[in-house]
Order: sequence, then structure tokens, then C-alpha cells
Amino acid sequence: MDFTLNEQQKMLRKITREFAEEYIAPVAEESDQKSKLDDKIFQKMKEMNYFGTCIPEEYGGAGLHDDTISFCIVTEEIGRVDASWGITIGVHCSVCAYPIYKFGTEDQKQRFLIDLAKGNKVGAFCLTEANAGSDAGGVQLSAEKDGDEWILNGSKIFATNGGIAQTLLVVAKSGEKGSRKELTIFIVDTNTPGYSVGVKEDKLGVRASNTSELVFQDVRVPYENILGNIGEGFRLAMKTLDYGRISIASQCVGLGQACLEASIKYSNERIQFGQPIGRFQGIQWKISDMACAVESGRLLTYKAAHMCDNGMDYGLASAMAKLVASEAAMKAAHSAVQIHGGYGLMKAYAVERYFRDAKMGEVYEGTSEIQRLVIANQLLRKGANIL
Ligand SMILES: Cc1cc2nc3c(=O)[nH]c(=O)nc-3n(C[C@H](O)[C@H](O)[C@H](O)COP(=O)(O)OP(=O)(O)OC[C@H]3O[C@@H](n4cnc5c(N)ncnc54)[C@H](O)[C@@H]3O)c2cc1C
Repeated sequence: MDFTLNEQQKMLRKITREFAEEYIAPVAEESDQKSKLDDKIFQKMKEMNYFGTCIPEEYGGAGLHDDTISFCIVTEEIGRVDASWGITIGVHCSVCAYPIYKFGTEDQKQRFLIDLAKGNKVGAFCLTEANAGSDAGGVQLSAEKDGDEWILNGSKIFATNGGIAQTLLVVAKSGEKGSRKELTIFIVDTNTPGYSVGVKEDKLGVRASNTSELVFQDVRVPYENILGNIGEGFRLAMKTLDYGRISIASQCVGLGQACLEASIKYSNERIQFGQPIGRFQGIQWKISDMACAVESGRLLTYKAAHMCDNGMDYGLASAMAKLVASEAAMKAAHSAVQIHGGYGLMKAYAVERYFRDAKMGEVYEGTSEIQRLVIANQLLRKGANIL
């Protein structure tokens, strides 16, 4: 087993870390307080081609569509300084651009990927509805055929990038076969009449990322905008989430790493009882546990990415990576605040934001409970030797 990154990946980490520290970190706190991403950083992210991370070069992307470890490095390093930017770029790349590249027609790639790669258009993935959360098959937003077009009616909630996106992947109910719903994914341009953005959510964490309700009233979508085939929506949505969970996992690894780094720094600086608090065993144990948990999440994440790039079935690995990395980030954030004592609750210290941001990893793209169901279902069906 070789755990070393190649030279290109090491260089990508260096460049992304420098970029994130120089540009994103200084405005992360302000963006959190304003609940809005910084426009200048947006421009810089475009220039650095981060919007095109998972898109092949022929469509203007960075060409890392078959190097998921590199995609992990990008989201990990961005997530290390600002989880809001981590999820914004992660969702755009992993659950909008990547499925269009993977399952789309050549015409769809030409029409959508080029603008997504440049960041001229932002992407979103719209599955969740008021009555369809963990139970993704419960989607009610309807798609009715009318000649060569389909008409969408209904609403989505909690869509990351929803209010700033121009390209949406919308999972809709396109029919019923017996007692089973038939779902289909439609690529929707937000300029289409009948589409509007509803409530923008005011959140606990990842506050600068846009999370919105989206409303569809007689939105006409051409037949050419169906992703994959009619009725294939549920399968494609689950495949999309397999990849998206690697992205969430790597964002959580970055956030956990940030908690660890802040805790080490503070433990070496803060003097109590005449010595740095890092000399106390109670603090040392916390730091050890954080490091082990974050590194476990990182290894599982890279394993899932490696399996993905090598054409292996990586659904189980990505669920495990997302579960372990998100819970590691939450525990690391909890310890980081504790190590900072009272200062950990103050906005002057970034760990206060990390603590709020960390909760999100355990909820979106499938809660921890749902990851455990996904993992257990596979193990019970196929046995423990699949690991
Ligand atoms: C910040 C943020 C961003 C998001 N971004 C997106 C996005 O871009 N696109 C999108 O489509 N959605 C998005 N979501 C939605 C997210 O994926 C859902 O919130 C999540 O899947 C849970 O659904 P729910 O909120 O309806 O909770 P529910 O499904 O109602 O779950 C409530 C509780 O019950 C538990 N539960 C449910 N079913 C079971 C079960 N079978 N066994 C055990 N426990 C169970 C859950 O784990 C949870 O603890 C986002 C959510 C947030 C908070």
C-alpha cells in the first residue's frame, strides 16, 4: 500500500493551502457574520479554476475528474480555512458538474459544463423537499410530459447554492410504476420562466454558504435536459451522493485538521498553573484523540477516492468516510472549544465558528444515522469480507 501523494498532488496541496490562507481565511469570519460569500474571493476562485476542479480540460475544467484524491485535497484545504467555501465549491463540483460529466450527453456537457467550469454559472443539486429528507424516494415535485417538454411543479428546500445557482439538477417524480414512484433528474437553467428562489435559510453554521428554498411553477424543461433516462433518477441521485459524500468527508477532514492545529497552538501558548496547558495530560489526551479521529477520516476518504478512480464500487467506502470524517470533525471541534476554555466561545477565536460549522457534516447528504443504515445494509447483504 502506498500512502504518498504524487508530486502533482503535493503541489496542488501547497498551492491551494497558500491560496486559502492568503485570500479566504482573512475574510472567513466576516463572511460568516454577514451570511454571504465574499465577491472578491468568488472572482479569485474562478481565476484559480476551482469551479472546474472535477471537469475535464476539454470543457475548460482543471481535468481532475479522474483524480478524486486531488479533488479531496482541494476541498480539504478550502474546508480547513472556511467550511462555507468548502461546501459551496464541493456541491458545485461533486453533485452538479460531476454527474453531468459522468451521466450527461455530449450536448449537455457542451451546454452546461463549460460555464460551470469557468464559474460563470454555479451549480446546485436539488433533492430534499419538506416531506422528503432522509426518505429521498418520497419526492413530490412533479414532472409532466407535454410534447417534447416536461413541466415541473413543486418546491425543494435546503438547496446548497440554491440562491446563487444558475444550473440545477432537480430530482422530480415523473410517473409511477405500480406502487413505485418513478424519479427523473432534470437539468434546469434558472432563467426558465416559472422558477424562483424562496426562503434563504438563516443557519447555525456554514452561514456564508447559501441554503435556499426553490420554487417551480410550470417550469418547462426540454427533453434534451433529462440527465440519463426517464425513471433513472433515483439510481443516479444515489450514485451522485456516493461521490458527493467523498467531498463532504474531505471538507470535514479539513475542518477537523483546523481544530487540531488551533488546539495545538493554543495549548502551547496558554499558561495556567505556571506552565503551558499542553503539559497537562488531560489536554494531551484530547489532542491525541483528535489527531487519531481526523487521520482515520482522512484515510477512509482517500481510500474511497482511490476506489472511485480505479473503477471499483465505492458506495460503502464513501458512506464510511463521510460518517467517520464528519463525526471526527464534530468531536474535534468540541475538544477545540474545550481546550480554548472561555475564549473558545468568543468570536475572536476561529474555533467558535468551527464548532458551529462542524455540525453540518453530520446532517447533509445523508445524516449519520442514514450512513449507518447504508453501511449496515451492504454488510448484512454481502458480508464483512467486502471491506
Ligand atoms: C446546510 C444544509 C445543506 C443542505 N444541502 C442540500 C442540498 O444541496 N441538496 C439537497 O437536496 N439537500 C440538502 N440538504 C438537506 C439534507 O440532505 C437533509 O437535511 C438530510 O438528508 C436530512 O433530511 P431531513 O432534514 O428531512 O431530516 P429527517 O429525514 O426528517 O430526519 C430527522 C431525524 O431522523 C433520523 N432518521 C430519519 N430516517 C431514519 C431512519 N430510517 N433510521 C434512523 N434514523 C432516521 C435522521 O437521521 C434525523 O436524525 C442540506 C441540509 C443542510 C442542513
